[in-house]
Amino acid sequence: MRLLLGVLVLLSAVPLVWAADSPEAQWLTLTPTRGAWGDLALEASWDAYGPELRPGKGWITLGETVRVPAVIERAGTVGALVRSERPFLVRELQEALAPLLCLGQGTLSVKVRDLFCHEVEWEAPPARVSWVQNGLLSAVRATVCGPESWRTVPGGKSISDIASFLAACPPPDELALLRGDFPILFRPARDSAPGYACTEPTGALEAPSDQLVIYQALRVIRHLLLSTPLPWTYLHPYDWLKSKFGALVVNSGVGFADCHIRVTPPGGTAQVTAIVIQEAELQGGIGWGDPRTGGLARLILRIFHLARHVDRAHDCGERDSSLDYLGAWGVEYTLATMLSQGTIQAGLSSEQRGALAAYAQQLLATRFCSGG
Ligand SMILES: [Zn+2]
Repeated sequence: MRLLLGVLVLLSAVPLVWAADSPEAQWLTLTPTRGAWGDLALEASWDAYGPELRPGKGWITLGETVRVPAVIERAGTVGALVRSERPFLVRELQEALAPLLCLGQGTLSVKVRDLFCHEVEWEAPPARVSWVQNGLLSAVRATVCGPESWRTVPGGKSISDIASFLAACPPPDELALLRGDFPILFRPARDSAPGYACTEPTGALEAPSDQLVIYQALRVIRHLLLSTPLPWTYLHPYDWLKSKFGALVVNSGVGFADCHIRVTPPGGTAQVTAIVIQEAELQGGIGWGDPRTGGLARLILRIFHLARHVDRAHDCGERDSSLDYLGAWGVEYTLATMLSQGTIQAGLSSEQRGALAAYAQQLLATRFCSGG
């Protein structure tokens, strides 16, 4: 009866696969729990590939550092089910868990050893680690990942209606902040070009300055409200941009295709990375628009695309190999999807969200060599 109950419990712990028949088919399931003293802890259940493992007692090690007693059961001819007998303390695993849990990156090292000194090791990638969503998972996440600074930035207010948000000019203090974080340079340099100017409603401006268009886009980004972190960073989108570049260059010259360059902003002494926006990309107007044709929707996605290129080039010609690569197209796709689904809130109408979903599908169909 106890065995039957055990089997039922195991079967219900999705997505636990019975008997891994290859190293790739392994699963690690982590269940948040409380340790003996009430500390946050994790129970581990590993659907392992280990033909040589003997059933019985053993040890399981996570993150190459923390080891607890385990029970090993055979599952099929090559599989083994390894379960921790005592939970792992979360605070001891903080560093090992952070990339995987907070960023969905890296791997978690898992090792089992039976009483006959057979050892099996596995680097579990995020896609093969299942976190049981119980009431303690958010506490585990907060302990490992720190405060949820990805949600919003200090001073960020969620946008309730994008149209009225964009009709207003950036308030002076916010404009000063945006200018400090992201100075704008021109290439070739402009001596007598129109400077920044703004009057309300902005939609009535016949020819908004490039600076106003860019700062309105950055202002939207600053006030985005996230209900889940971006898959490639634990930072808020605005802070992530800040971590990747410190200036923007508007290029109106020809034959200049760099995505980012090093510049010294006016009044500055140190060089910073600048992303390069083609002037034509700013001509789509100062309204939200439709990402398939222009407007701030397209510019915002473009800014993230260029920011991603600071670290990552396209790896399949001008396309990305796959969505999983999370290159510049993957970043655009993800943002468009999150905005369309409301996991990133920007006060968009259902029509605007629909346009973003359609744009994401268009990217998926045309910008990935593996079709996503
Ligand atoms: Zn690109």
